[in-house]
Amino acid sequence: MGCGARTSRARLQQVLLARNPGWERPVAALAPDGDADLDGVDFSAFDVPGCEACGGMLKPDVVFYGESVPRARVEAAVAHLQRSDAMLVVGSSLMVWSGFRFARMAAEAGLPLAALNLGRTRADGLLSLKLEADCVDVLAGLRGRATTL
Ligand SMILES: [Zn+2]
Repeated sequence: MGCGARTSRARLQQVLLARNPGWERPVAALAPDGDADLDGVDFSAFDVPGCEACGGMLKPDVVFYGESVPRARVEAAVAHLQRSDAMLVVGSSLMVWSGFRFARMAAEAGLPLAALNLGRTRADGLLSLKLEADCVDVLAGLRGRATTL
């Protein structure tokens, strides 16, 4: 978080396992949203590594709720959207503006907008197609079946 250095997830996994032998096995089942219930798990001996460059605190390279999406990332997404023929939303309710704005842009540009999501999305009124299904199941079923036109 302090120096801007980046480490791959694979490299971080190696460091975590080297510093915490015995933690390679799962300690909780994963929920569909990727969370895990860790109540009752003792982390007191877990050795959390710092940044390999400066020793500072690590943070995943993702945008958390309440954070702003970096301007360059937004501009790149808009540029991709402007070259697109349609937009497919996968596994998002679009309840936060950072995602919903792209659905609105697509709709305003007259692009077909589709969503694959369990439950309501903020863009339901804008969708041309909606599949209420588990995205992992649907995408796994499409593996190897996509055709470039
Ligand atoms: Zn650092």
